[in-house]
Amino acid sequence: GFKMGIVGLPNVGKSTLFNALTKTAAAQAANFPFCTIEPNVGDVAVPDARLDKLAAIAKSRQIIPTRMTFVDIAGLVKGASKGEGLGNQFLANIREVDAIAHVLRCFEDGDVTHVEGRVDPVADAETIETELMLADLESIEKRRANLVRKLKGNDKEAQQQDRLLAAAQQMLEDGKPARMVEVSDEDAKAWKNLQLLTTKPVLYVCNVSEEDAATGNEYSERVARMAADQGNAHVIISAKIEEEISLLEPDEAQMFLQEMGLEEPGLDRLIRAGYDLLKLETYFTVGPKEARAWTIRRGTLAPQAAGVIHGDFEKGFIRAETIAYDDYIACNGEQGAKEAGKMRAEGKSYVVKDGDVMHFLFNT
Ligand code: GDP
Repeated sequence: GFKMGIVGLPNVGKSTLFNALTKTAAAQAANFPFCTIEPNVGDVAVPDARLDKLAAIAKSRQIIPTRMTFVDIAGLVKGASKGEGLGNQFLANIREVDAIAHVLRCFEDGDVTHVEGRVDPVADAETIETELMLADLESIEKRRANLVRKLKGNDKEAQQQDRLLAAAQQMLEDGKPARMVEVSDEDAKAWKNLQLLTTKPVLYVCNVSEEDAATGNEYSERVARMAADQGNAHVIISAKIEEEISLLEPDEAQMFLQEMGLEEPGLDRLIRAGYDLLKLETYFTVGPKEARAWTIRRGTLAPQAAGVIHGDFEKGFIRAETIAYDDYIACNGEQGAKEAGKMRAEGKSYVVKDGDVMHFLFNT
């Protein structure tokens, strides 16, 4: 599955947000409860209204949403890259995530201490980014030193790694994150395998006060401009509101949201933003037994999409029977779609589309 790491300076609202995300009724969807893998790892159901509509039409007995994992990576402070605080262990945690949700304090509250003694989310973002850049520089130097012997042996893979590491090093020494390096298609895989911290896409989470939840504020506007300049994304959330929602029953939560002038919980927006950032999409399998959502990367071909369900589906792939979501709804289900000629047979080169209802045929 896909993993998002929640980072940020101390006291910006990370734990509040993480707890709300993983305890909310939506996250605990039906018969697939939220499970705690470790205290700081939460497996959250991805909310998707389409799945409920499909299940209603097919009279599915079970609804199984797709999942996204959030990791609360606390302890990142100034000096983390030098092993201060609990630094290094946390940097190792960040290495393993697909994207970073960077929580920024955009609320004022005299009772909550700010580590730097002032509210300045853009400066905070730079503090954390600097630590990540320093950590990358350090690991690059170590890795390049380790490659020296292999390079003398004319090892092609080592040459590629060293060339990419050198490009990243140059960028970082210029004071910019490694994600600014332009990488060719041929190098894309090796580049990703370097697992540099500053190549991970970043979603800035502006934690605003309850009053500002619907509108944002001056602080979140500054973050929005910074994110746009960097090509990163941002969302506005009030961790306090999310915490309160997580304690309510779904219909109470709906009323509470309305009172706050919000259309949907922050969880939904956060996950959607994460999906966009990671270029993820959802396809469905629907039948009387269950309606289920599956996550793929945008552009995934039918056999690899089948492989998300089971490796054998990919290996023995013959073809897929596909109904677009809108057709499935308009034709009131599979039978109707078939009769209307909306069920397509698709082969190995079919690019699965967001919302497709899929049925895979395969050899065992
Ligand atoms: P972390 O250190 O980043 O995990 O921060 P916490 O989630 O533990 O929050 C630190 C403190 O800030 C706690 O006392 C929270 O209740 C408080 N806090 C979090 N979000 C908000 C907010 O949006 N507004 C206000 N006023 N306080 C908040």
